[in-house]
Amino acid sequence: MKNTPVGRFAPTPSGRMHLGNVFAALVAWLSVRSRNGHFVLRMEDLDTQRTSAEFAEILRQDLLWLGLNWDEETPAQSARTDVYDRYFSLLEEKGLLYPCYCTRSQLHSINAPHASDGTYVYPGTCRHLTNAQKEAFGRNPSWRVCVPDRDYEITDLCQGIYKENLLHDCGDFVVRRADGVYVYQLAVTVDDGEAGVTEVVRGQDLLSSAPRQMYLQELFGFSHPEYGHVPMLLAPDGRRLSKRDKDLDLGYLRQNMTPESLIGTLAFSAGLIDKEIPISARELASQFTWKKLRGDAITMTGTLFSAK
Ligand SMILES: [Zn+2]
Repeated sequence: MKNTPVGRFAPTPSGRMHLGNVFAALVAWLSVRSRNGHFVLRMEDLDTQRTSAEFAEILRQDLLWLGLNWDEETPAQSARTDVYDRYFSLLEEKGLLYPCYCTRSQLHSINAPHASDGTYVYPGTCRHLTNAQKEAFGRNPSWRVCVPDRDYEITDLCQGIYKENLLHDCGDFVVRRADGVYVYQLAVTVDDGEAGVTEVVRGQDLLSSAPRQMYLQELFGFSHPEYGHVPMLLAPDGRRLSKRDKDLDLGYLRQNMTPESLIGTLAFSAGLIDKEIPISARELASQFTWKKLRGDAITMTGTLFSAK
């Protein structure tokens, strides 16, 4: 297993896969399969209100329909609270956690700089509360981890260099919510680390969370994986595709296309093949390199749109 690339796809089972999810899954799979690596599937179902075992099963069937098989499915996040508890305690032992009592509206009114993704930079409001102040709130706090004044730099397989200073561009961030639910940043770091994931391929919208995860990886004793944040998909008219485009989820697409024609259209739009022809995931893997993949937004060809 040494030096074997380990990749993963970690969908949220809250509905049918959308075209953007399919693209992220495809590239994650191609990157691993083109080098005889190991592919891990994991259900990110921290939000138990929105996710279900039924959707998880549909997701598996959709992946198999696409030809994107996996070697291992690791336990879903909803079953791993006790594991996350251990890593939470580790942060506590290091003296890096503190309770935050800020309400949502207080956080919104923080007159602090905003990060590139539009979220506010937490100014450390609750870092030095006294015990008396904490008790006076009389409610459960969320828990934040103190971040260092340090730059984290990624050489992303798709986006090139991305740099962020955790203190100035992000601030101390929440690892456990007031209702006891662990946040994505902690869960994903633990899950990828324990599964020995060596490359994290996912949508570009998650690029700005990579530095937070790199910081947690160091605290938890995991090595940094490589990152590949694949670009957003645009409609032929330049509009950003979203989950609201119901006719581009797999429920619809499976009725109107073969897996090969869908993968061919995605691969051609992304620059992975020169002609828009039907192709299987396996055939595509034999010719995949990251160099071919464009880092900027990908405008889809009209095929999916004229098929309606
Ligand atoms: Zn606070």
